[in-house]
Amino acid sequence: MRMALIAGNWKMNGSLALVEEFGRAFADVSLPVNVEVALMVPFPFLEAAGRTFTANSVTVGAQTLSDRPSGAFTGEVSAAMLRECDTRLVLVGHSERRTLFGEDGAAVLARVKAALAEGLTPLLCVGETLEEREAERTEAVVLGQLEAVFDNLDEAQRVRLVVAYEPVWAIGTGHTATPNQAQSVHAAIRRRLAHYDQALADGMRLLYGGSMKADNAAELLAQPDIDGGLVGGASLKVDDFLAICQSA
Ligand code: PGA
Repeated sequence: MRMALIAGNWKMNGSLALVEEFGRAFADVSLPVNVEVALMVPFPFLEAAGRTFTANSVTVGAQTLSDRPSGAFTGEVSAAMLRECDTRLVLVGHSERRTLFGEDGAAVLARVKAALAEGLTPLLCVGETLEEREAERTEAVVLGQLEAVFDNLDEAQRVRLVVAYEPVWAIGTGHTATPNQAQSVHAAIRRRLAHYDQALADGMRLLYGGSMKADNAAELLAQPDIDGGLVGGASLKVDDFLAICQSA
């Protein structure tokens, strides 16, 4: 049995007031017991989120991290610093990091390793562009991004990841993958993970991300290989995000 995970990604949005608003909402509602809920907030809000959310069993996450442990890297934030703020989860390889900040396969792998070394859970994002989908390269691209990380980890490290399939053409566009499109890629990812180890494939949580909303979450989450969601825009509104959590 894989525990569902609904992870909100605020990106460079939100405020301390929004952290407080979510904190009050989490304290008031009963979140489903079979679902792990997480919010990935900007660095300056991590400490407040840790204080506010962990009391309500909501996991606090960051959106990126440095691949170095410490040193003269102005502006960077290390895995150990994230740990000090009660951060348990960290996004790695989000398509915005890959395209806007030039993080390639090696950079993604180094960040996954840095997170693992400090006991953080890396939430690895993979996904194809519209051009790649139209050229029928979806599986090649997605599995290539997956292998660039998993081929370079040992067995004990691999089981500690969570994977999110996020088709780039669905992120922030309002164009959600259909449940069938998403399920088919999730199944391909799970089949590929079984090449490493069947137990790894069976236990790995595979999230879908890309315009997931309150009104499409249930049918996506009902697919056999979709174990949760990575939610961008809809994680900035308390009611929408809680509705997605309730539908998991
Ligand atoms: P979206 O973003 O839900 O706004 O499409 C998802 C993501 O980028 O993680």
